[in-house]
Amino acid sequence: MPNDMISLLLDLESNLDKPIEDILRLIKKYQKADGSHWNYASIIEQYKNLAGTQGLKEFNPKLVEKILMKPVRTLSGVAPVTVLTKPYPCPGKCIFCPNDLRMPKSYLADEPGAQRAEKNYFDPYLQTTNRLEALHSMGHQVDKVELIILGGTWTAYPESYQIWFVKECFRAMNDFQSKNDTEKITKKYQDFQKKFQETEKKWQTNTFLNTNPLENKENFSKLQIKGEDISETYNQLVKKYYLEPENALGVVQYQKATWTELEKEQVKNETALQRCVGLVIETRPDEITPASVKKIRHLGATKVQLGIQSLDDEILRKNKRGHDVKTIRTAFSLLRQAGFKLHIHFMANLYGGSVAKDKRDFAKLFRDRDFRPDELKIYPCSLIETAELMRYYKKGLWKPYSHEELLEITSFTLTHTPAYCRITRMIRDIPSQDIVVGNTKSNFRQIAEQHAIKTNQKMQDIRSREIRSSNFEIDGVQLKIKNYQTSISNEKFLQFVYQDKILAFLRLSLPLSPTNEVSDELNGAAMIREIHVYGRSLAIGQKDHDDKAQHFGFGKKLIAKAAAISKKAGFSKLAVISAIGTKEYYRKRGFSDGELYQFLHLS
Ligand code: SF4
Repeated sequence: MPNDMISLLLDLESNLDKPIEDILRLIKKYQKADGSHWNYASIIEQYKNLAGTQGLKEFNPKLVEKILMKPVRTLSGVAPVTVLTKPYPCPGKCIFCPNDLRMPKSYLADEPGAQRAEKNYFDPYLQTTNRLEALHSMGHQVDKVELIILGGTWTAYPESYQIWFVKECFRAMNDFQSKNDTEKITKKYQDFQKKFQETEKKWQTNTFLNTNPLENKENFSKLQIKGEDISETYNQLVKKYYLEPENALGVVQYQKATWTELEKEQVKNETALQRCVGLVIETRPDEITPASVKKIRHLGATKVQLGIQSLDDEILRKNKRGHDVKTIRTAFSLLRQAGFKLHIHFMANLYGGSVAKDKRDFAKLFRDRDFRPDELKIYPCSLIETAELMRYYKKGLWKPYSHEELLEITSFTLTHTPAYCRITRMIRDIPSQDIVVGNTKSNFRQIAEQHAIKTNQKMQDIRSREIRSSNFEIDGVQLKIKNYQTSISNEKFLQFVYQDKILAFLRLSLPLSPTNEVSDELNGAAMIREIHVYGRSLAIGQKDHDDKAQHFGFGKKLIAKAAAISKKAGFSKLAVISAIGTKEYYRKRGFSDGELYQFLHLS
């Protein structure tokens, strides 16, 4: 029995009264012999076996309940399943971006989720199944899944890989709890590995990633890039060590699919037990064109994470972003026209920046009608050993913000984000051992929130107002509408609130032009870009008797209101950017299927 598990359980026993966020952080402190973290299911299992022995008190069900709470995972109403794409060249050359050869561009092997991907050969089916199993074994409902695909620049991967990747995620959701192909797929990779070992001399390296992160670490240690002196780039090395062998071994042939194959799995998912209620991909602004937006939609995506990082041309240039602010404006316009939820990555402390410039830039994000995103990740720049930024740091051209500077910019962003936007994350959760210099506190949001409260500054972003597990009285619930304009639409943020807490919301977009640049079927249509009803994730059709927000009819009421507003504004149809797994929901509410969207006729 690993001693660490005993220490972890003892630690949990003595911290049982602490808030769940502290408990989760405590669990993260403990690692297994291979460097990975304990999953919650195994902690519970071990606790059941060990309670009352080895210094532990008698079994206390509260400890299990606490671990199962994990409210951050499902209180947003859906079960998030994050999957990573394989290492692959990225068109970006950003100086702050990590170059970890074991990972898709910009990710680090020690980051949460990355090891799970590595242990599953970056295979989408294995990753999705594995994550669903983990959530399910912790007692969470997994029938409503938000699939978050991370890694480099999604749109730069070959189209056949993109289709295959998404198809396999859908297939995993469709297969879950019935037949399961994991053994067959694992065997396939083992065969590739065997073939690789037989022909390894040809490539002179042992670079075919296996399922053991420690072995991979050892095999890759000599190859890893040093940001201080990059003689070969990530893209060059990835081509040499992955793409060439993958081509020769036939992996590329295995990792491809057709649109028809994808559509077959999508149709199955519409009525499957585990439905995809949201699909997210991430890309760069200069990859956004009418054609690429249409393709992303065809895959079933409903949200795009767009790395913009800055709205200052000079800073973008200095950091070798490879695009300008004008490109960001175009990307926003196209994605909004197509109804996508816009999730923006914004960085502070970039080379050439300052706290004052960051504040000015951030204010522009909401002042300028070309932008006004729906969700935000705010990532002050962290110095990673493999990033080119190391060179700038060594020459004294860049340094990390001090604690005070970081607090100034993070609390500024918290207090200057409007009520229609959600700050999803503040400070990237980079393991402290990977940060060369600068902030290693990952709970900076809490610190910034406390600072804002102490200095009497108001926060109104969605996340700071979510109802979470609090109860509410239906008589006190009000519908409020926040209106704002963008350069291409009148936006209406409809929200059901109780006191100052948000229970449900709908994003309605009323385009200013009758012509849509992305899809003809959207000409003349108002658009529902998002509906979100909060509450612990419930099974489809299951009623919650604890006054939680889900299944209180809020979704239906919001749609009726959006239809009435759209009709009054002169629109003859209301489109919705439905996820594959929410199509049935909208059909039941009178929407009919179009090519890529669903429509409610208003006349
Ligand atoms: S585009 Fe994104 S992933 Fe590519 S180099 Fe830049 S930051 Fe990294």
